[in-house]
Formats: sequence, C-alpha cells, structure tokens
Amino acid sequence: SAGRVVVVGGGFGGATAAKYLKRRNPAIQVTLIEPAREFMTCPFTNLYLGGLRTLQQQSHNYDELRALGVTVVHDYADAVDAQKQTVKVAGGQTFAYDKLVLSPGIDFRWNALEGYDEAAAQKAPHAWKAGAQTELLKKQLDAMPDGGVFVMVAPANPYRCPPGPYERISMVAHYFKTQKPKSKILVLDPKDAFSKQGLFTDGWKRFYGDMIEWVPLSKDGKVVRVDANTLTVESEFGEKHKADVLNVIPPQKAGIIAERAGVTNESGWVPVNPDTFESARVPNIYVVGDATVAAPMPKSGFVANAQAKVAAAAIVNALAGRPAVKPSFINTCYSLIAPDYGISVAGVYAVQDGKIVETSGGLSPKDADADFRKLEAEYGVAWYNAIAQDTWG
Ligand code: FAD
Repeated sequence: SAGRVVVVGGGFGGATAAKYLKRRNPAIQVTLIEPAREFMTCPFTNLYLGGLRTLQQQSHNYDELRALGVTVVHDYADAVDAQKQTVKVAGGQTFAYDKLVLSPGIDFRWNALEGYDEAAAQKAPHAWKAGAQTELLKKQLDAMPDGGVFVMVAPANPYRCPPGPYERISMVAHYFKTQKPKSKILVLDPKDAFSKQGLFTDGWKRFYGDMIEWVPLSKDGKVVRVDANTLTVESEFGEKHKADVLNVIPPQKAGIIAERAGVTNESGWVPVNPDTFESARVPNIYVVGDATVAAPMPKSGFVANAQAKVAAAAIVNALAGRPAVKPSFINTCYSLIAPDYGISVAGVYAVQDGKIVETSGGLSPKDADADFRKLEAEYGVAWYNAIAQDTWG
C-alpha cells in the first residue's frame, strides 16, 4: 500500500495534516482520531465574550475530511507504542501506522499555580480551550453586577496564543463599556512585556480610558496562589486581590499524549526537526502545533496549520522514498481591540543551520488611521473564514 498515517487531534494542526496528506496522495490511508464531533476554535472566542459573535460561529465538523477519504474516529488516543507503531484509543481499538502525526494542542499544569486545579477551573475558568469553559466565563461576566472587578491572571511564556489574553481584555472591556460601564479590569501578569503591547495599550487608552489596569512582573504582577472559593489571588509579595469574575490562564505543556508517546523533553514541550516536524526523539512520529518547541514561531492556529502542511509534505515524500524539501512559514495574528479597530503582527520564518529563524515581519503601524484599523478588523474576519475553510473545509 501507499502507507498508513494516523493523525491524533482534529484541531488546527491535525485536521490540516489529514487534509493535505489526502490531497497530496489520495492512496495513503489516513485515520484521524479526535473525540469531538464538533471542534470549537479558540480564535474568535474572545469576540464571543465581547458580545460580537455566537459560540456556534466557531464550530466546525469533519464532513469535508470524510468526503476526502479520511477515516475519522471519534475517540481519545490513550497510548502510543512507538516500537510496534500503534495507537490505542480509549474505546479499545488499536491503529497501526507507518507515520504518526500528533497535534494534541496544550494541556494545563494543574497546581503549578498553587490552588489552581481542575476543580478550581469550575469557579475561576481558564477558557483557554474553547467550549464549556468559554461559556462558563461568559455566564459569569453576564451575571456580574455593574461596578464589579474582572481579574485576569495572565500566563508566563511560552503559552498558546501570545496576544490572546490581551485581546480578551479588550473584548471584556468592550462588553463592560457597552453594558456595565462602572466595572473595572485588573490584569496580573508574570511578564514585563507582551505581544503587540504598544498597539494594545494605545487602543485601551483610546477606547476604554482608565477601565483597564495592567500590573507587570516588576510591579508585583506575578500571582503565586489562587483561592477559587473566595475568588482571591495572592501575588509574589503577598498582596491579595479579590475578583467578582476571575479568569486564570495557567501554565501549560504539550497535550498529554505527547508525553505518553515519549516525544516531550524536560520543558514539557516537543522538540522537532524543523525541516519536517518529525520528533527529535522518536522516529516516524511527527508533531505540529502548540505542542512543539518552534520559537520564534508563536503558538497560533495559523502556525499549526502551516507546520501541518510541512509535516504532510515531508510524510508524503518519505513514504514515496523522496527527500524532504526546505520549508518556509508565515504567521499573522490579528487581534480586535474594539468592533472596528483591529491590529496585527506578521512573521516569515525559515530554517537555517537546523534552527527556525524569523527572516521578516513586523507590526501594523502605530499611527494608522481609523480606516486602516477598520480594514484590519475586516482582514481578521477574512483570515478566520479562510483558515477555517482550509482546515476543516
Ligand atoms: P488544537 O487546535 O487545540 O487541537 C488539538 C486537538 O487535539 C483538540 O481537538 C483535542 O480534542 C485533540 N486531542 C488532544 N489530545 C488528544 C488525544 N489524546 N486523542 C485524540 N485527540 C486529542 N491562533 C491564531 O492563529 N489566531 C487567533 O486569532 C487565535 N486566537 C486565540 C484566542 C484564544 C482565546 C486562544 C486560547 C487561542 C487562540 N489562538 C489563535 C491559538 C490557537 O487556538 C492554537 O494555537 C491552535 O488551536 C493550535 O492548534 P493545535 O492543533 O496545536 O491544537
């Protein structure tokens, strides 16, 4: 046969890999393992929190992949046997592979932040995986009285979606401004700088005045303890902050199946060969998306999609006995600060001497006028529609 490829995870990376494997060589047997029948994207869930979109608008199914000939199995991969080259799912079935693609996204390091475990997330949601957690946070914001305080505990690097927390702040601020104008937002950050910072802070001042207070590491912004019962957090130097709605975005690591497959290193993430995205540790396992160590590329849906295409091409070539080709990558992350006010950052990446380097890129201009910002907001929607189409069809 032309080969068997198993793909674990039907998010940005996994769905793209499955699709592009089939497109490049329909004779390859491709099996995609993903528990969810409807995948909900994290991108644009901040706009849902802002009241600008429904959650359903971010939901995608696997009909298109099935139509392409991908076998979609709605189950959870429990174990990988890298010697026998098999994947076992929770339902008991075992799938043999010649090549395996893992795109499991992130898992959380529960209790790495004292007091923040799975039970605490039911009271102080992270909403960093889309679905029930996102709805919980929205419900809490809707129930909060005008004049309440929304506290976000921002994550340390590296984490999924560098501008994501700050877009969320913007969208919650938009919701407050239009619905609960006496409310306040406090961001407690274990970093002194963040993605698109100048553009965000300019936009915050312009639209939300003094509603948002951002406390960096150097001003005691690092939270070390969470009490989800009282919605109180404690900083490194012992200051306590009480929230009405508490959003904790905890420390992260590669999705647990990567650890079980033996491809993670001591950092909890997956080192890869950047030319192919094959694991640096275990042959015939390719890992893409948030789970990988691929800095300076950010952990974004755009990047997961780009890496998946590179891995798919490398697998098709390897199965046909052809060498891999040299990849290059691009990323753009749009963020929305207010309904007609978008900003962006773009990067172009290449592999040099076995390392990923940024060869070009930059931010959208600081002094852009209102028409430009409105266009960027529209480009953001166009980007979302295009990548959703490219990934799930
Ligand atoms: P995911 O898309 O999370 O997919 C992983 C899939 O694997 C999941 O469906 C999961 O169910 C499945 N899975 C995990 N373990 C197993 C297993 N053992 N067996 C079977 N299936 C498994 N990115 C952008 O490019 N632009 C944006 O505007 C943007 N906005 C964001 C906003 C927010 C609030 C957040 C949190 C993220 C945002 N991102 C954005 C980042 C983006 O969501 C991630 O980078 C992207 O989802 C990574 O793709 P992935 O394939 O690695 O993981």
